[in-house]
Amino acid sequence: MTAIGLEHVTKRFEHIIGADERAITAVNDVSLRITSGDVLAILGPSGCGKSTLLRLVAGIFKPDEGQVFYDDQDLQDIPLRDRGVGMVFQEGALIPHWESRRSVAFFLALRKREQEVPGRLAQISRITGFGLDTLLERRPGQLSGGEQQRVSIARALARDMRVLLFDEPFANLDAKYRGEARVELKRLLNAFPVTSIYVTHDQVEAIALAHRIAIMRDGRLEQVGTYQQLYSNPVNLFVATFIGTPIMNLFPGRIENGLWYGENFGGYAVRKDLPDGTHVTAGVRPEYIHLAQEGTYGVVEQKIPLFAERRQVITVHLAGERWSLIAPLEQPVEVGSTIQCALNPQGLLYFDTLTGQRIG
Ligand code: ATP
Repeated sequence: MTAIGLEHVTKRFEHIIGADERAITAVNDVSLRITSGDVLAILGPSGCGKSTLLRLVAGIFKPDEGQVFYDDQDLQDIPLRDRGVGMVFQEGALIPHWESRRSVAFFLALRKREQEVPGRLAQISRITGFGLDTLLERRPGQLSGGEQQRVSIARALARDMRVLLFDEPFANLDAKYRGEARVELKRLLNAFPVTSIYVTHDQVEAIALAHRIAIMRDGRLEQVGTYQQLYSNPVNLFVATFIGTPIMNLFPGRIENGLWYGENFGGYAVRKDLPDGTHVTAGVRPEYIHLAQEGTYGVVEQKIPLFAERRQVITVHLAGERWSLIAPLEQPVEVGSTIQCALNPQGLLYFDTLTGQRIG
């Protein structure tokens, strides 16, 4: 197995817009280490550079600055045939006029090791729990999107890989098949541990499959950590609001007499070194707000039941602010009614309003 390293990697693209030529920095000074055998998910909004980062790790793009390492060797110094990169894309990327078996066997056949193919396929079939055999006689055009992805993953696993890279492999599948495909892939990654990067828009997928998650914005890495670390200890407002559903409640406020005050509540100590007048945004996750006998009055705008969790997400309009909170599903709450809610100050996180950086 192989550790992946990136050191100060930057990649720019030239875009011609009318008569202008403009450089876009798709990946900007990214440094990162993925331990051998770990799965790292890359999450971020559209256009933030996720796919470009993946292609840099695959060696499809060469960095303008910085280096990509497999173990301690610069990727540029590793001959193509020794790189051992498996990639699974959104589209499956199977060769249209080949039967799937030929696609899956291709790399081993190239190395005159075709005899290993049946054993590997049987193993993959057993672990995923679906009969790969029935798919292998067909061409991609005769397979559904989900089936094509299964063949693509089998193809990646049927060869000797050092790294396995996924670019939103299940994005085109509907919710039911996404769930199943995720479980199968998790089983495969447990059975064939391989250092992997998994690009996705889907937090649930990232949590299910990855050991750590990297959050990207505008070509930069904002934070890398376990989901729990990103959720409880975000480094800035971007990560705080990108991770977690429903999203964190935010309250604008200021420091007065050394304490934080918002529009409707306050008096909390943040940090001793902040001068009075500093603009500070407080954030609190919905689970730190609850319905209370003696709390602040608000009008219920919306309630969304989460049946599987026996909870409901309630949105309350309260003196010009909107609060999201979580209550037990059994608690009777009517849209349009007035309720009282209270906040547990232990859940408050503080951010510099101007820079978005976490300050307490
Ligand atoms: P999405 O989630 O929408 O797939 P992404 O996070 O994967 O987006 P990238 O595809 O890496 O983002 O694109 C990052 C930036 O680089 C975008 O501004 C994009 O337009 C630009 N870009 C990506 N590939 C190329 C290319 N081959 N030529 C020129 N510009 C590109």
